[in-house]
Amino acid sequence: MTNDCLFCRIVKKEVTANIVAENEHCVAFRDINPQAPVHILIIPRKHVASLNEARDPAIIGRLSLLAAELAKSEGLADRGYRTVINTNADAGQTVFHLHLHLLGGRRMSWPPG
Ligand code: 5GP
Ligand code: ZN
Repeated sequence: MTNDCLFCRIVKKEVTANIVAENEHCVAFRDINPQAPVHILIIPRKHVASLNEARDPAIIGRLSLLAAELAKSEGLADRGYRTVINTNADAGQTVFHLHLHLLGGRRMSWPPG
């Protein structure tokens, strides 16, 4: 946990977020600036700055499987959805606490912008 990390502060409930799921390892909450009808961020409770710093394969698995669960409960699973991890400047990462975006409810274009 780091005091100056926004997402650590959401984990600690020092900053309010619209939390949709949480378990021992992960917290999921709605993005404040949604880019699709459903836009949820799924983060590990433990501070990891980006995918570059991730060492525990279980963390990545947990983020992905919680995304799949939420895709089902949000009614996205059959139509489809996208999961994205932005890493560093070229991908546009703005918050340096690892997070997986779950986006759905509209047709996605490919390649991504
Ligand atoms: P990144 O660009 O790092 O992949 O994604 C960061 C995401 O965090 C952005 O989609 C942004 O809208 C979201 N975000 C930034 N600040 C907050 C906040 O205070 N609350 C919530 N719920 N989302 C935030
Ligand atoms: Zn953090």
